[in-house]
Amino acid sequence: MYQKNVWEGISEEKKQAIFAFNEGYKAFLSAAKTERLAVKESEKLAKKAGFKRFDEYKKLAAGDKVYFINRDKNIILYIIGKKPLEEGMNVLGAHIDSPRLDLKQNPLYECKGMAFMDTHYYGGVKKYQYVTLPLALHGVVYKKDGTKVEIAVGENDDEPVLGINDLLPHLAQEQMKGNAATFIEGEKLDLTVGSIPMEGDEKEAVKANVLKILTDKYGIDEEDLVSAEIEVVPAGKARDFGLDRSMVMSYGQDDRVCAYASLIAILETEAPEYTACCELVDKEEIGSVGATGAHSVFFENTVAELLNKMGRTDYIALKRAMENSKMLSSDVSAALDPLYPSVSDENNCAKINYGVVFNKYTGARGKSGANDAMPEFIAYLRKLLDDEDIYFQTGELGKVDAGGGGTIAYILAKYNMSVIDAGVPVLSMHAPWEVTAKADVYEAYRCYKAFVK
Ligand code: MN
Ligand code: MN
Repeated sequence: MYQKNVWEGISEEKKQAIFAFNEGYKAFLSAAKTERLAVKESEKLAKKAGFKRFDEYKKLAAGDKVYFINRDKNIILYIIGKKPLEEGMNVLGAHIDSPRLDLKQNPLYECKGMAFMDTHYYGGVKKYQYVTLPLALHGVVYKKDGTKVEIAVGENDDEPVLGINDLLPHLAQEQMKGNAATFIEGEKLDLTVGSIPMEGDEKEAVKANVLKILTDKYGIDEEDLVSAEIEVVPAGKARDFGLDRSMVMSYGQDDRVCAYASLIAILETEAPEYTACCELVDKEEIGSVGATGAHSVFFENTVAELLNKMGRTDYIALKRAMENSKMLSSDVSAALDPLYPSVSDENNCAKINYGVVFNKYTGARGKSGANDAMPEFIAYLRKLLDDEDIYFQTGELGKVDAGGGGTIAYILAKYNMSVIDAGVPVLSMHAPWEVTAKADVYEAYRCYKAFVK
């Protein structure tokens, strides 16, 4: 179903399926506010679906469901296929990190009777969008003895929220003359965390009081924050959006929307011909770098581990398994925004409610950094989707020369596998509260399921 509106002539049954699927999606978004929490939620759902940790298997055989977790920030799930692994896999890949603010390593300070925490933004954020919002903290602190302490503040009604102040309009004459890229500077994105001075303590008494709260609640001291990873994200749950409830508004839909749809697709798959894989990676928003990003050899290592437990230790089997694979690099695409039509080419952009969107290429300027998928692979996908009446569309990330962006597609393509970007259109992408259409989330899930089946 190419370039057709999902809602036109829709059956009552399908309508209900779309809304039901999105209930699960919203629950996932509300729980998985960071990549660590996304891994935790994914593992929970995977276990329920019969997946086991890799080290729980002595040997692997067709039909086995297995997963690997890398440093709590990256999870890869497999269902072993009937065909030998070296004939290739069907891979779904998405990222579970999202733009946000991170606490600096030495975050806490006091200024003029108030306590603040310094942050460093992560990924592409419009900094002015992060002021005067209720914000929550999520993360971990590792103490010197190796103990891990989990931090979570701001999501429950009985917990406080944090936030970043902004000037009142009455006194913002100078500020309002600045341009949007710079009038809120990165160094001004400091969280307000307290204002009550500790009794008897004269110097930095407000900061001392905040530290006491952290010690009482978490058993940590100021120096422990050096070995912490604490993320600052918009506080609150995913909600229905629009009077007709046709959309979802939530933090972190780039790219947990594709992550969730891919995850459910593999969890519902049984005994595939080719090995099915779903990899959920970290660090996409800052270039897919690091041990838990798509550039890491972790993925390749897990394939080697699978082969090993199936009695294949030769290098060529690994190389063939990678090269013969097909992949949907599932990431979000910019949806045509009727308020800002000038940045999109109407004939070549994604629209909400038109289903899963294929980006043959992403990149900037002359397709710089793009994977540029093979036409024969696109033809294969067209047939696959049309055979199951799955709604799909094609798009580019905005007009030529309007800007650009990238995904993990090119990274996996270097194994010489067939890769294309296939995701969900998003409105207000990278904003604290992003918007997707429920029909597109559902069609993406159907597409991923058809692909791994
Ligand atoms: Mn993305
Ligand atoms: Mn992004």
